[in-house]
Amino acid sequence: MAGLKGKRALVLGGSRGIGAAIVRRLAAEGAEVVFTYAGSREAAERLAGETGARAELTDSADREAVVARVRESGALDVLVVNAGVAMMGDPLELDADEVDRMIRINVHAPYHAAVEAARRMPEGGRIVVIGSNVGNHVGFPGIAAYALTKSAVQGMVRGLARDFGPRGITVNAVQPGPVDTDMNPADGPLKDTLYGLMSIKRHGRPDEIAGMVAWLAGPEAGFVTGAMHTIDGGYGA
Ligand code: NDP
Repeated sequence: MAGLKGKRALVLGGSRGIGAAIVRRLAAEGAEVVFTYAGSREAAERLAGETGARAELTDSADREAVVARVRESGALDVLVVNAGVAMMGDPLELDADEVDRMIRINVHAPYHAAVEAARRMPEGGRIVVIGSNVGNHVGFPGIAAYALTKSAVQGMVRGLARDFGPRGITVNAVQPGPVDTDMNPADGPLKDTLYGLMSIKRHGRPDEIAGMVAWLAGPEAGFVTGAMHTIDGGYGA
């Protein structure tokens, strides 16, 4: 696996879960990887030690910090925006400030990071945003605010693919279904609801999502852009 040898990659939100699997996979493919974290310093430092990637503290809720991190990364070949949070519950009860913070992390940060990266990205550059299958289909109540953030990812990916395509830069979304992470543990309370909607009744593994990201970042995917790549065990079938 050396498909990304010599490529410079930045992963926003790489300390845990799907993001950590993406860092491992891109590093294994030979990329020079920098990743960000916010709350999980120890996990980030462990992952950096394990993979040779560099960890940087950057809060995705802070637009200026995100833009500065992307700018300082120079001419990136690959940008992956994975950092995300999920708030669930009755919309009449959710804290409005927390909803707005989620929108900053899940929507504002990917948009501004992608635009800033594109300023210096060379031809052949790759931008991948981690959306969600709930951007396509909301199967149960209590996730309206989260779903709105992942539907917003779809619009930005389609639009930025149009904007940057003439420069040979691709922009894609990877849309996981249930994946076993701290956000959505396989033994969590949503298990029965989720499996009732899926044809492959298990949680996905973070490395299954990372494989799709690596393919999109790699040399075979140069004609793939503006597309939503859903990996959801048949949730949306
Ligand atoms: P986890 O909660 O397990 O991990 C989230 C990651 O995002 C951590 O590395 C965390 O870093 C980082 N992150 C969160 N907030 C911030 C922030 N403000 N600034 C910087 N980094 C941040 O989630 P998953 O791995 O499950 O999710 C990753 C992505 O996949 C998200 O975008 C999520 O919406 C999406 N997704 C997940 C699904 C699932 O079932 N797991 C399904 C569909 C989509 P730190 O701990 O250092 O703050």
